[in-house]
Amino acid sequence: MKIFVDDIPQKGLTINEIFDLNPNELVEEGSFVNPVSCHIQIYREGDKVVVRGEVHTTLELLCSRCLAPYHEPVDSRFDLVFFEEDGDWDEENSEEAKEIQEEDVNTLFYENGLIDLDNVILDQINLSLPFKPLCGELCKGICPICGKDLNEGPCGCEVKRKDPRIQKITDTLRGK
Ligand SMILES: [Zn+2]
Ligand SMILES: [Zn+2]
Repeated sequence: MKIFVDDIPQKGLTINEIFDLNPNELVEEGSFVNPVSCHIQIYREGDKVVVRGEVHTTLELLCSRCLAPYHEPVDSRFDLVFFEEDGDWDEENSEEAKEIQEEDVNTLFYENGLIDLDNVILDQINLSLPFKPLCGELCKGICPICGKDLNEGPCGCEVKRKDPRIQKITDTLRGK
């Protein structure tokens, strides 16, 4: 969905929509298992465009430890300010844009008089994703030797202790 900035009415725009987004644009390999539902308010403030809202969906991602697919809920709120790229700002506004940009990561720019809401929503989803996706805090991962998913039970492989400090203690205990 593209928003033409000149078409934003004085009282602003309210958008309650399901967005159909391309899962290939996600930073993690995954897919949408729930529709991407968004509530967005857009209004102009002088040269600025304020885009504020929330996005709700559920993704299927792959756990970075056990590699199994799992569901990751996304419930993200955002509060963004857009300035026109290469805008014809007067001195004061341009200073303001610079200042806001320096102190506020939520300052963005729009080009060609439009804001692509699909990209805005995708960015917000990507920003909300965990750095390392996990099916659960307690995921045991897979055995480095046989590759079994240890969440399903132990595999019986003997894990050799590589930590030299532990080896030293073991040696001491054995009287070496
Ligand atoms: Zn896992
Ligand atoms: Zn194993």
